[in-house]
Amino acid sequence: MLAEIDVAIIGAGVIGLAMAGETGQRKRKVFVFEKNHSFGLETSSRNSEVIHAGIYYPEDSLKTKLCVEGRSLLYELCDRHGIAYKKLGKIIVAVNENEVTQLEKLYEQGRKNGTHDLMLLSRTELKKLEPNIEARAGLLSPSTGILDSYSLLKFLYSQAMEKGAEFVFNTEVIGIEKAGTKYKVQIRDQDGVSAFVARVVINSAGLNSGKIAQLAGMNMAKVGYVLRYCKGEYFSLGSKYRNLVGRLIYPTPEQAGNGIHVTPGLDGRVRLGPNARYVEAIDYGVDETQREAFYNSAKRFLPRIELEDLAPEFAGIRPKLQGPGEAFRDFVIAHEEKADFPGLINLIGIESPGLTASPAIARYVGKMVREVLD
Ligand SMILES: Cc1cc2nc3c(=O)[nH]c(=O)nc-3n(C[C@H](O)[C@H](O)[C@H](O)COP(=O)(O)OP(=O)(O)OC[C@H]3O[C@@H](n4cnc5c(N)ncnc54)[C@H](O)[C@@H]3O)c2cc1C
Repeated sequence: MLAEIDVAIIGAGVIGLAMAGETGQRKRKVFVFEKNHSFGLETSSRNSEVIHAGIYYPEDSLKTKLCVEGRSLLYELCDRHGIAYKKLGKIIVAVNENEVTQLEKLYEQGRKNGTHDLMLLSRTELKKLEPNIEARAGLLSPSTGILDSYSLLKFLYSQAMEKGAEFVFNTEVIGIEKAGTKYKVQIRDQDGVSAFVARVVINSAGLNSGKIAQLAGMNMAKVGYVLRYCKGEYFSLGSKYRNLVGRLIYPTPEQAGNGIHVTPGLDGRVRLGPNARYVEAIDYGVDETQREAFYNSAKRFLPRIELEDLAPEFAGIRPKLQGPGEAFRDFVIAHEEKADFPGLINLIGIESPGLTASPAIARYVGKMVREVLD
């Protein structure tokens, strides 16, 4: 007889950790399986650490709803549990007439999305707030912030353990098979391959989430869960640029990302990035030949910077559902009952604003889990 648990969560990134705290209540047996030796070693620690306001996406999308809800929950969580953050505010800048029109559209979209504190800024107003920025106009989002993502991950991990969730590191999920109304889950660790039975399987495997859905037997082409990798690299600016800007400064958005932005860290150090490049394999190296492209991109609105002051820093990879040039795709957060996989919950394409949305995603999935188990 195989051991039986209530909930198997695949992946201990910010999403798996937040869900483990949410579902690990009511004496349920919740296990989190993570292939790495610790939590949060992939996308959750390779991002901009921005608490987004929820400006860019369509108003009826999960990205918007869960970002707006997650942002409030995240600020509350940081306040309550001493997680370092700064509500710096962000300015999206327009350097030409075309971009000014785009800013006006973003302002409208943001308001539709429930972000009511946005302000359009003239060149003079922008200059007063950010003397080192050169642009025609700006869009100020006062409720955007930055946080210490490692502290958040550590807090979510401790909270999940307190609620009774168990973490199994260095353990990769390699098979999922229907077993009546439950699932037989196969894992591989240093001792070899073993299996157990779970009533609910939550797939929060980030860059591997598409493969996990496929392992469970889902037809990827039919459901549209094929993931692409879209790399985002960062360059840091030297210490002489400390406090160069007081807020996050973004260009008007590009198709695959929000554009190479300027982010002051909690310590005042300034970073540029991320870019957005579709790649075939997971490789976190930073391509130094990108330096000039970063420089040219930031120089448009930050004339004081010098090419030689940019140093490669780190990279992350977005799990994207849309390929280059394709239309907007929302987060997939689905209980796959209709596809004949009751008890399987897939989270696929959890790119930005996944960090911001994480507490709201946990609540959303918590409800699905209760519907199956209660
Ligand atoms: C460049 C970049 C910048 C970003 N900036 C922001 C930002 O500023 N603000 C924001 O809100 N969001 C941002 N995001 C998005 C955010 O980082 C992600 O949405 C979030 O971290 C996703 O978390 P996750 O838990 O789904 O994935 P991950 O952190 O990748 O976790 C998935 C885990 O699953 C594990 N795993 C995979 N396969 C298996 C298996 N078979 N068995 C066991 N374990 C497995 C992996 O090892 C990994 O630890 C950014 C993302 C990128 C790439």
